[in-house]
Amino acid sequence: MAVAIIGLGNMGLGMAATLVRSGLVPVGFDLAPKRRALAAEAGAGVAAALADAMAGSDVVVLSLPHGRAVAAAVEAFVAVAPTDAVLVDTSTLAVAETRAFAARVAASGRAFLDAPVSGGPAGAASGQLTAMVGGDAAVLARVRPVLERLAARIVHVGGAGAGQVAKLANNMLVATHLVAAAEAMRMAEAAGVPAQAVLDVVNAASGRSAATEVNLPRWILSGSFDSGFAAGLMRKDVGLALDLARDGGVAVPVLARAAETWLARSGAVGADADFNRVPAWVMEGGDG
Ligand code: NAD
Repeated sequence: MAVAIIGLGNMGLGMAATLVRSGLVPVGFDLAPKRRALAAEAGAGVAAALADAMAGSDVVVLSLPHGRAVAAAVEAFVAVAPTDAVLVDTSTLAVAETRAFAARVAASGRAFLDAPVSGGPAGAASGQLTAMVGGDAAVLARVRPVLERLAARIVHVGGAGAGQVAKLANNMLVATHLVAAAEAMRMAEAAGVPAQAVLDVVNAASGRSAATEVNLPRWILSGSFDSGFAAGLMRKDVGLALDLARDGGVAVPVLARAAETWLARSGAVGADADFNRVPAWVMEGGDG
């Protein structure tokens, strides 16, 4: 099976390396020459142009930072990919936009799945992602041999866009848990108990979450801030989740307050900074 990976960033490069290790050498493409060079170093094939990567591929995997990049990939796919090819979008995108891409691909006679992922660059590099899939079950069955190399868990959520709905719900919870955990740590430290001592309790008790079990110890209290997920990308996801709530006519007051911290209040944390810098800023009292 011929596979292409479009977007060789923190996630896509790890996916390409994972496929190489599994014996399925993909062709990669990224606008940035440096990322193409890293993919070649990892043993992947590299295409000089988007269309070259797609022509002749049975499965095209996207890992891109925004809808504009995915739109360009969709247009190239419907123009040059084989008519029985499948486009699998692992980027996190707006639900309505994703459904429009699915319809555009279907109108060309080809197949599309949204398959956003969780697990970060470490999960991509180790083939241990969780994939949340929206689209046709029969199409998922066709791409499973590829997806199973990338993901330890594959959840078929529903029809087109359902994967994105699940992913946005997940990331809005991550964003909210991070702000809440940072506030709880600040509260404890102000009362004289160090954050680490509180974490030792919380992680053996019912207040635990990925924020307390992973983010705080691994990336925040350690000072490493090297998760490979940029604050700008998390802000994108938070904005998309708010749009989804608004479009559904649903009030989400707790999520909306956490979103305010990410989108409006933490401007001191730049878009390229590690996303854990936002809860760290909250812990330092930046949010008031
Ligand atoms: P990234 O910024 O590290 O990588 C994106 C890559 O896409 C870059 O190398 C960039 O040069 C390339 N690119 C941009 N426009 C392009 C185009 N038109 N054609 C080809 N290449 C193009 O981002 P990332 O962290 O790898 O995230 C990719 C996607 O996965 C995003 O949608 C993100 O929200 C999602 N995601 C990221 C993580 C994470 O922890 N980093 C986890 C889950 C999901």
